[in-house]
Amino acid sequence: MLRRMADIDVKLGLRTILEKIETAIKKRAPELQYSKPQLVAVSKTKPTNLIIEAYEEGQRHFGENYIQELIEKANSADILEKCKDIKWHFIGPVQTNKVNKILSVPKLYMIETVHSKKLATALNQKWPEFRKDDGKLRIMLQVNTSGEDAKSGIDPDEVVDLTRHVNDNCNNLELDGIMTIGQFGYNLEEGPNPDFIRLKKCRDEICESLGWDIKNVNLSMGMSDDFEHAIEMGSTNVRVGSSIFGYRPKKN
Ligand SMILES: *Cc1c(COP(=O)(O)O)cnc(C)c1O
Repeated sequence: MLRRMADIDVKLGLRTILEKIETAIKKRAPELQYSKPQLVAVSKTKPTNLIIEAYEEGQRHFGENYIQELIEKANSADILEKCKDIKWHFIGPVQTNKVNKILSVPKLYMIETVHSKKLATALNQKWPEFRKDDGKLRIMLQVNTSGEDAKSGIDPDEVVDLTRHVNDNCNNLELDGIMTIGQFGYNLEEGPNPDFIRLKKCRDEICESLGWDIKNVNLSMGMSDDFEHAIEMGSTNVRVGSSIFGYRPKKN
């Protein structure tokens, strides 16, 4: 295990993923060419020296999904000193009683996993105590597109309602987009991933109901196994971990 981690060439991994992203962009339909997808490098369970290596290669957006781990990394002296422009995305489950902890993270850029009115309201109320400037807190709504009980996220039917809540009642939040994890192990030979189709449909519903331009609602979908497919389907934010940082033992 240790040997394996030492062998990992993060810079090469990152360059390879960026090249694959470019190739996937070229395969997209013309109407999807308006944006360049953002890469979030998912560094969970990986040590800060690997984050710094990726940062030195130019990567700025990083994702973590355990609150305690994010707090430790974001506050570590190395990261604070060497990664001054780092942009943290929180991509894990958030409980309302952990809001203060998350909002205290230095260089917190976005919370991708907002899943209820209660949580949105709590983030909205607390953000003014934590923000460093007048900026709003960027959030995404996590949608449970696969309908699995074990996945967090709101039901696709509730997305418009939660969007309205954020838009009408949460002045300190900026709704950046919607995100899904989706079913694990979906076989792409069976056709376009239904989770990605569902997420796009949610975006269309939001834009239709609120009169918004789809270009203003990002789609966070695609991970190591399927980010190229997700980009071809219109993803604007891919979250890639193990293909950059190496194998990650599964947590139970
Ligand atoms: C771990 C994780 C990823 C990255 O997964 P890989 O398969 O390692 O690329 C992306 N999104 C979320 C929400 C995750 O928890």
